Amino acid sequence: MKPKYKRILLKLSGEALMGADAYGINRQTITEIVDEVKSVVDLGVQVGVVIGGGNIFRGVAPAATGMDRAQADYMGMLATVMNALALQDAMRAIGMMARVQSALIIEQVVEPYIRGRAIRGLEQGRTIIFAGGTGNPFFTTDTAAALRGAEIGAEIVLKATKVDGIYSADPKKDPHAVRYDRISFDEVILKNLAVMDATAFALCRDQKLPINVFSLLKPGALKRIVLGEQEGTLVYC
Ligand code: UDP
Repeated sequence: MKPKYKRILLKLSGEALMGADAYGINRQTITEIVDEVKSVVDLGVQVGVVIGGGNIFRGVAPAATGMDRAQADYMGMLATVMNALALQDAMRAIGMMARVQSALIIEQVVEPYIRGRAIRGLEQGRTIIFAGGTGNPFFTTDTAAALRGAEIGAEIVLKATKVDGIYSADPKKDPHAVRYDRISFDEVILKNLAVMDATAFALCRDQKLPINVFSLLKPGALKRIVLGEQEGTLVYC
């Protein structure tokens, strides 16, 4: 089985780590996620991961109400560093070589983000976890995924969500909602569909970086995408 992609950028939301819990990191869930990631690394695919922080702190959430937005956003970025460390730990526990590089410098804990070093690590078969988002407030980790994806020359951004793709309407509210197998960037804009936030989406579109939205809750989904099978929704240029 020859993978379709040599290098991918996987975006995991912080919420993906919660499992059924209300917040935080669920050990069982994180173990399942890293098993999925390992299955594609074992195919020889180079994997960069951008991890979110929404399970711990979100700059625009009620918990941040009344706070200075930039200050709250830095808290959100710090939360992604915690998630990245948990992810690295879970990866190492199953024998993967994983490095964390952070856009925020916390030198006792993580390496700083250095593009050349990240690429070298990927070439050596290490999974690189990008923490700290973009390092700037007012952005999201989706934008960090688009940015790092473009920087490392990933062929695709794989956005793992709880929903198994992009629908014509919210499938929880509208029983007639249909899932798209494939959709172009232009159609997404035309139909006003939510895929990623506008900044992240625009960056992927400009850089001709396709996005595949899929559900991590479906075992084997990540591997199927990497092998070129239809899974979730592919946003193409
Ligand atoms: N954040 C930020 N700049 C970034 C990335 C993240 O300020 O480049 C902050 C922001 O407050 C955001 C929080 O970190 O709400 C967590 O990131 P995000 O919401 O993207 O996480 P996810 O929804 O993927 O878990």
